[in-house]
Amino acid sequence: MNEIIATRDFKAGNATPLVSAKEVCQSYDKGAAGSLVVLDKVDVELRPGEIVGLLGRSGSGKSTLLRAIAGLIQPSGGTVTFEGRAVNGPSSGVAVVFQSFALFPWLSVLENVELGLEAQGIAPAERRKRALAAIDLIGLDGFESAYPKELSGGMRQRVGLARALVVHPKVLLMDEPFSALDVLTAETLRTDLLDLWCEGRMPIEAILMVTHNIEEAVLMCDRILIFGSNPGRVIAELKVELPQPRDRLDPAFRTLVE
Ligand code: ADP
Ligand code: MG
Repeated sequence: MNEIIATRDFKAGNATPLVSAKEVCQSYDKGAAGSLVVLDKVDVELRPGEIVGLLGRSGSGKSTLLRAIAGLIQPSGGTVTFEGRAVNGPSSGVAVVFQSFALFPWLSVLENVELGLEAQGIAPAERRKRALAAIDLIGLDGFESAYPKELSGGMRQRVGLARALVVHPKVLLMDEPFSALDVLTAETLRTDLLDLWCEGRMPIEAILMVTHNIEEAVLMCDRILIFGSNPGRVIAELKVELPQPRDRLDPAFRTLVE
């Protein structure tokens, strides 16, 4: 493994939240139809060491909440903090993986991943070094010069993951990262990601993952927030407690929830 992908070094269970969303509200102006309240006073906390799932129906506001936490939108009400500071825009501490991969088709794998570092003023040589390490970590070694159209869906999402990991974020937000993939590809990518997580080989300290797949949520998450709709808010929370974090990788556990 390349040395520039940091290992995690935090105390799991640390009480200080990395991300704290408090009473987050979001409305959209629908013209003559009035205003649509999408999020209604949503509270979400993300602590070091945990994977939290956000499970809810389509249109319940899950992506909107993720965008607010990532600083991609300023919510109409409430506050979002990252490490105690108000989130006013995108930051390198929080990276996002999108359902649709969001790759640039005219750029190679390496260029797409390097783009993750564009805004950070990092020297080109260092940028390349970090991009290659992220590509290697996520299992795309040898595909650096390939273009997205030459890759399968699963590999494209690996590029999306590498582009998120290259900034060495503390928090990874994933918006239905596996839902565009076939069942087997999704399972492989999930397992690879959990492997990296359980072994502490990603610099990530916490993951918030949107899904509408309950099995996926149980397999991956320590806590699952159930999102109600009209308007979106947390209506229930489930805890998944495993004796050992690595138990997630046990095939018996995966079979159990299938
Ligand atoms: P989910 O991810 O749970 O499917 P979204 O957050 O994408 O839900 O959307 C919630 C609701 O907000 C939907 O009704 C959607 O049409 C609406 N919405 C999302 N983004 C916008 C936008 N930029 N402008 C207007 N309406 C939007
Ligand atoms: Mg969505």
